[in-house]
Amino acid sequence: MRSDATQFELTSEPSLNAVLTKLAANPGKYTPLAGGTEIMVALSTGRLPQKPLLNILHLAELRFIREEPGSITLGANTTFTDIRNNAAIARELPLLIESASWTGAIANQNRGTLGGNIVNASPAADNPPVLLVYGAIITLISSTGTRTIPYADFHLGYKKTVLRPDELVHSVTLPTGFADYRQYIRKVGTRNALAISKIALGGLALVKDDTLTEIRLGAASLTDRPIRCAAAESALQGQSLAPQHLEATIRAGRAALASEARPIDDIRSTAKYRAAVAENLLEEFLRQIAKS
Ligand SMILES: Cc1cc2nc3c(=O)[nH]c(=O)nc-3n(C[C@H](O)[C@H](O)[C@H](O)COP(=O)(O)OP(=O)(O)OC[C@H]3O[C@@H](n4cnc5c(N)ncnc54)[C@H](O)[C@@H]3O)c2cc1C
Repeated sequence: MRSDATQFELTSEPSLNAVLTKLAANPGKYTPLAGGTEIMVALSTGRLPQKPLLNILHLAELRFIREEPGSITLGANTTFTDIRNNAAIARELPLLIESASWTGAIANQNRGTLGGNIVNASPAADNPPVLLVYGAIITLISSTGTRTIPYADFHLGYKKTVLRPDELVHSVTLPTGFADYRQYIRKVGTRNALAISKIALGGLALVKDDTLTEIRLGAASLTDRPIRCAAAESALQGQSLAPQHLEATIRAGRAALASEARPIDDIRSTAKYRAAVAENLLEEFLRQIAKS
């Protein structure tokens, strides 16, 4: 049943410090509100916990894109439109431009934030596979300071993260220097545009003399949380993509990916379909690399 919006209090504080102080003084009392594109859907479907909302979207301290030698850091309030319009990201992290361009329609991209996409912790969200393959580091902030963790360790399960009630996501740092890598991202949904994915796979690969010297794979909806596909990566590492070995390499990669697939079954798709399509996407990526 639809929630009654008048039952929700919304407060705003003038600075990040004031917000963090409020969160620390009242652990778990408030729901931070960034773009609200997840929260308003939860409100309309009656799933939003009955807690006061604490506005964070106006905090300039959380909205920035900073390029440094070897990395780009995005504040949690960076919107998908900010990402799409950023020349450094387009040059260094093209897969992130792609996933941002898929994250809902333009209105959604103007308002939805990277922080909200991560904290909402949907296994089907569009940007996590890209953050995983680029090796993102996430900075969390509270009134007592900051801590940084690999983004790969952020998700604990379906809609569960390591975030404490007194913490916010501050920023996401992505290493750069992937010019020599083959890069891949594909989302499979009901339609090409404006659909939550049934399954998505991102990939980065370094190839030397037909050999996969490094491969990274990140998946959405392959398990109850976004994951790096460790089994498939280790099965493929060091394998040959030369014509006489390609089919065996693909078989090994598919089998390893199948062994770690534990997809959810929900209204969008079945677990069986998701697992089969994930293998097909991996095969597509490997064939693309082998051809180029
Ligand atoms: C029509 C529509 C289409 C959509 N399509 C897609 C899609 O194609 N792909 C996709 O991945 N998503 C999609 N979404 C989901 C949503 O837009 C994204 O997940 C977006 O990134 C959420 O960001 P937000 O700022 O709006 O989050 P909010 O709704 O403000 O917050 C989401 C959650 O994150 C928490 N939060 C937000 N920021 C922080 C922070 N800095 N620190 C701690 N907690 C925080 C909030 O408390 C809340 O729990 C769609 C949503 C709608 C309404």
